[in-house]
Amino acid sequence: MSQEQGNKRLIVGANKPAHDTNILTNTQATIREALDRLGYEEAVYELLKEPIRVMTVRIPVRMDDGHVEVFTGYRAQHNDAIGPTKGGVRFHPDVTLDEVKALSIWMSLKCGIFNLPYGGAKGGIVCDPRSMSLSEQERLARGYVRAISQIVGPAKDIPAPDVYTNSQIMAWMYDEYSRIREFDSPGFITGKPLVLGGSRGRESATALGVVVALRETAERMGKKLSELRVLVQGFGNVGSNVARILHELGATVVGISDAGGGVYNENGLPIPELIEEKDSFGMVTPRLSGVIPTEEFLTKPCDVLVPAALENQIHEGNADKIQASLIVEAANGPTTPEADQILHERGIVVVPDVLANAGGVTVSYFEWVQNNQGFYWTEEEVNQRLENMMVQSVHNILDTAERYDVLPRMAAYMVGIRPFAEAMRWRGWV
Ligand code: GLU
Repeated sequence: MSQEQGNKRLIVGANKPAHDTNILTNTQATIREALDRLGYEEAVYELLKEPIRVMTVRIPVRMDDGHVEVFTGYRAQHNDAIGPTKGGVRFHPDVTLDEVKALSIWMSLKCGIFNLPYGGAKGGIVCDPRSMSLSEQERLARGYVRAISQIVGPAKDIPAPDVYTNSQIMAWMYDEYSRIREFDSPGFITGKPLVLGGSRGRESATALGVVVALRETAERMGKKLSELRVLVQGFGNVGSNVARILHELGATVVGISDAGGGVYNENGLPIPELIEEKDSFGMVTPRLSGVIPTEEFLTKPCDVLVPAALENQIHEGNADKIQASLIVEAANGPTTPEADQILHERGIVVVPDVLANAGGVTVSYFEWVQNNQGFYWTEEEVNQRLENMMVQSVHNILDTAERYDVLPRMAAYMVGIRPFAEAMRWRGWV
């Protein structure tokens, strides 16, 4: 990110979800159903319905003009029965405590599905990095680490990038943590720059995982990647890399969008050129013509829709107009439960977020393993291991869905939550 891009002033809250349902309550209801189907007792649900630990912090930051602004930050640690907790930190004006809690539960599910030796966590700071300079972002990132340093660490809780945070922010957080602890501690955080112990392949890992999930599910539906027309909503790290990889593999990316709307062309878009044009916050439409509103964009003709933006984008108001036959959730929580039901009735297959986008945390796990052993893998090794784990998990979830006659989301919750219930039993917690 250049200083100039960091300084750019953009509209606050431009990505605010149109339909603001409480994702924590929805997630709790789905966890409850998954545990009931698996036959676990009430105490298991009581422990898993909320994070075991939540920290709210106030972070004073001296802004460039000299005044002090105080930001609110959160860190939610869902469950540490399996191992340390793990999950990203988002910088966004719409961050709420309930959102961070729900996101920490979803991180547990991802770790459970992929057999990673972690529980879930999530952090968030209520701020708009699009209107902050890089040095203000640095002071905020360092202040956040100082505020939560007691409860994080390579064997306690390991942060990572999320919405509007990146390898530069991870580098500052890593530096701050190492100074506090007075020893170098690369395993404290993942998503670091390569030269600071980052993993090859981490930057595009979430997107690669999404594409593998898309390919495997489409093949089960009798369709080849090269025959598919895909709409990608969101052009940040995940959305732009999904579009790039799909384009390279011969699929036709017919639409892309960002916080300002979308562009659509039934013959396919010039993805490499669009990536060249985008800024570090995934904005490209201000430089394009023919931009349509997001609501219209989501209902354009396509075979596959990949929501890669924020929560609650597919809701009861638009679920009946979506033309895709397959939705692969690259974002966390893009579909409301009401929309899930409508999509199901319409025969549209939804590959849930906790399965589709877990490539990110999987390669974060690889990064942490490489940091712990001090030995680094090639990009081919990283990508191959990720692809193998993704293929296995996709078929595991889709097979489970068929076996139990449930939707893939419920199957993912069942597979993802079970290891936590088992680990808690072995430890004598329940
Ligand atoms: N923020 C990403 C997610 O939501 C990655 C988390 C991580 O790498 O720990 O899955």
